[in-house]
Amino acid sequence: STMPPLLSAIANAGRHGVLAKSAVVMERLGRIDTVALDKTGTLTEGTPRVTDLRPLPGSGLDQDSLLMLAASAEHPSEHPLARAVVAAARERGLPLTGVEDFTSAPGRGVTATVDGRTVTVGAPARLLDAAGHQPGRAVVAELEEAGRTAVAVLRDQEPVGVLGIADRLRPDAAATVAALTRLTGRTPILLTGDNERAARHLAAEVGITDVRAGLLPQDKVAAVQEWEAQGRRVLVVGDGVNDAPALAAAHSGIAMGKAGSDLALETADAVVVRDELAAIPSIVQLSRTARRFVI
Ligand code: ADP
Ligand code: MG
Repeated sequence: STMPPLLSAIANAGRHGVLAKSAVVMERLGRIDTVALDKTGTLTEGTPRVTDLRPLPGSGLDQDSLLMLAASAEHPSEHPLARAVVAAARERGLPLTGVEDFTSAPGRGVTATVDGRTVTVGAPARLLDAAGHQPGRAVVAELEEAGRTAVAVLRDQEPVGVLGIADRLRPDAAATVAALTRLTGRTPILLTGDNERAARHLAAEVGITDVRAGLLPQDKVAAVQEWEAQGRRVLVVGDGVNDAPALAAAHSGIAMGKAGSDLALETADAVVVRDELAAIPSIVQLSRTARRFVI
């Protein structure tokens, strides 16, 4: 073909189910030497399910009313955990209450007014740090030991319950980590806003040892900048609003298309449209080959 190599590379990437936004993207991808992978929605399928409903003593809530409260607050959110909570409420046939004043803090959780009361659902590390929160923390520790992601539910700033949520690893996650390790000579790093215990549990299953947990969106950026200051060229793979700043800051950014948030898809240099993680090492390899023809 007479097509320039980088344009052929874009076409080939398309055949692998990856939408690369420009030829420059392919050129840059061919030079990455470090890979940072997000956890929820990237290494995992991103369709987590609620496994535990634990109202706290004194809350006056039963499992259904706890779930109703959490699902109402989560309803406007596009986060995979939020969708799990809403789906669990639907499966039980629970009615959701309309909310007001919805706000979401990427990497932390959501807050909304439900029936005139402020409901917050999110990362327990930050929500259950006050002195009176010990009962909730004990439930969180128990769930995280079991490899679950625990989410705290607060009503008017008081902890009223904890939800356990479990997500499945993508079937091609371990093979992808192995392929990326071969390509770069370095094992990929896991970057996650989730808790350390759940993150290590999952990392061990795919052969990742370098785990950075409990990260806010700006912490993911800081990690990327630290490596790039050492002369590394980092590829970030993510799906969430919380990954967008790191996708933008990194040498290269790839978003998972199927469950990915609009912001991640718009920010990334390339999008995995066919929802196969294994497409990533394939297009890195492709980009390298294309560069060899250009230079
Ligand atoms: P990851 O980096 O693994 O994709 P996120 O940064 O999206 O994870 O989320 C990190 C943590 O923040 C979650 O494990 C959860 O505790 C909390 N969180 C974020 N968004 C929500 C939400 N909509 N509902 C409940 N918890 C949330
Ligand atoms: Mg994610």
